[in-house]
Amino acid sequence: MKNAQCKKCLNKFQEKDIYTIQQFQYRKEPSYDWSVSYFKKLQIDEWDSFCENCIKEYADESKIMWENR
Ligand SMILES: [Zn+2]
Repeated sequence: MKNAQCKKCLNKFQEKDIYTIQQFQYRKEPSYDWSVSYFKKLQIDEWDSFCENCIKEYADESKIMWENR
């Protein structure tokens, strides 16, 4: 059953496939503190659900912003 919804693209998907920005604590750069404050500005918190595609987009976007900060 598809009962989770991506906050960005609004697609529905299965709950087991939910991604959140919490997964960014495992990347070396940007630091997680920086990531959290970056996403806060986009009105995204650690409990918002995203599909795999959108979380990848956010990962790339935030990396670019980090590199150009
Ligand atoms: Zn999405």
